[in-house]
Amino acid sequence: MSRKIQSVKGMNDLLPIEQKDFKLTASFWQAFEEVVARWTLRYGYQQIRTPIVEQTGLFVRSIGEETDVVGKEMYTFSDSNDTLSLSLRPEGTASCLRAVVEHNLTYAAPQKLWYMGPMFRRERPQKGRYRQFHQVGIEALGFPDPDIDAEIIAMCADLWRELGIADYLTLEINCLGNREERAAHRTALVEYLLQYETQLDDDSRRRLHTNPLRVLDTKNPDLQEIANRAPRLIDFLGEASRQHHDAFKALLDGLGIVYVENPRLVRGLDYYNQTVFEWTTDKLGAQATVCGGGRYDGLMEELGGQPTPSIGFAMGIERLLLLVHEFGCLKADNSPDVYVMQQGEGSTLIAMRYAAQLRAAGWNVLQHSGSQKLKNQFKRADQSKARFALIVAESEAASGSVTLKDLQGMHGQTTVPAEQMINQLKEWKA
Ligand code: ATP
Ligand code: MG
Repeated sequence: MSRKIQSVKGMNDLLPIEQKDFKLTASFWQAFEEVVARWTLRYGYQQIRTPIVEQTGLFVRSIGEETDVVGKEMYTFSDSNDTLSLSLRPEGTASCLRAVVEHNLTYAAPQKLWYMGPMFRRERPQKGRYRQFHQVGIEALGFPDPDIDAEIIAMCADLWRELGIADYLTLEINCLGNREERAAHRTALVEYLLQYETQLDDDSRRRLHTNPLRVLDTKNPDLQEIANRAPRLIDFLGEASRQHHDAFKALLDGLGIVYVENPRLVRGLDYYNQTVFEWTTDKLGAQATVCGGGRYDGLMEELGGQPTPSIGFAMGIERLLLLVHEFGCLKADNSPDVYVMQQGEGSTLIAMRYAAQLRAAGWNVLQHSGSQKLKNQFKRADQSKARFALIVAESEAASGSVTLKDLQGMHGQTTVPAEQMINQLKEWKA
């Protein structure tokens, strides 16, 4: 036998069954995708699908060279015979905006877009953190006012309710101000952090000169005190930013959405300004953030488009579904309605015809193939978790009747003329 080839570390298979260390099944995932399709439609969002590979420069320019995502975590390679550097996408916003600019989608009207798919980051794999993971995201492009900030938060809350996990998520918000306000804050922050330069860890010392805002985001327990006492961005906000933030909070209050203001919330990507937020949980260990987002009013221009104030968020599907799997409600039942069995040489074709009739009437049908032993067929039917069995016996087929069995309920077994099989199943199912 040849040596087995394993999947790539940090990249999961989605199977019909639960795995020991990965509880999410493909059918659970599919049920979630169906919820997402309806949810986005309810809010007037249109789907966009972009390639998984983009020019590396797109991510460098949008996410920022000094971020962990671009600096350390991207899968980058050069196309053969080509000097062009390509990368697997680490997130969805950059690609989405690239496509919007390229196809001039916001020319006539603002756009509300959503996407879903795999993202790639070379991180240390652990529960809730993978190298191929999946996101659902939305982007509202061309909306300057805080009403949209509040609406997308309400949209998240709506999904948490539908999935039964609202009680396990906390909303944290912050305001990052505009470019000038951030620059003034940055100067004060660097000055403050320089006093503690020797106490900082390597990561924070590096960030001090490249991306000092990110020092506030440190998870190092020894640095919490320093980060807590650092100058707060919120104290550097001018009138317009303050008004935007206050109006945003007033709408959340009015909608009855509870939030925590976290002045240290900065987000890991460079393109954010003004409103930023995260939905966090204490149920997934260190991987606390299920969904994050904010405004990126300058990003379209950065990517060569017209100035287009915009806001969006992305949620990690694995983290979200791990939470739903344990605490929420999402029904995923892909078992067949009817398992069709046949007995005797001549019954296969008749059984296939009955199966076709059932499918045409909207039933999900699994037809037996293989061993003709009835015991074996019943075993397979049980394994399939089918609700009913249809048994086509050669002896009955001649007289045009079939046997139905309720495999899970109390209806037992009955033999009926074939024309009545659908009505009988409907009656049993009701
Ligand atoms: P974290 O701080 O946990 O690394 P992040 O700030 O890097 O998250 P974002 O870039 O904001 O994450 O991506 C949005 C969401 O995508 C995250 O909140 C999380 O749910 C999910 N996510 C990010 N990276 C991963 C990963 N490696 N594996 C699984 N989910 C991820
Ligand atoms: Mg990260």
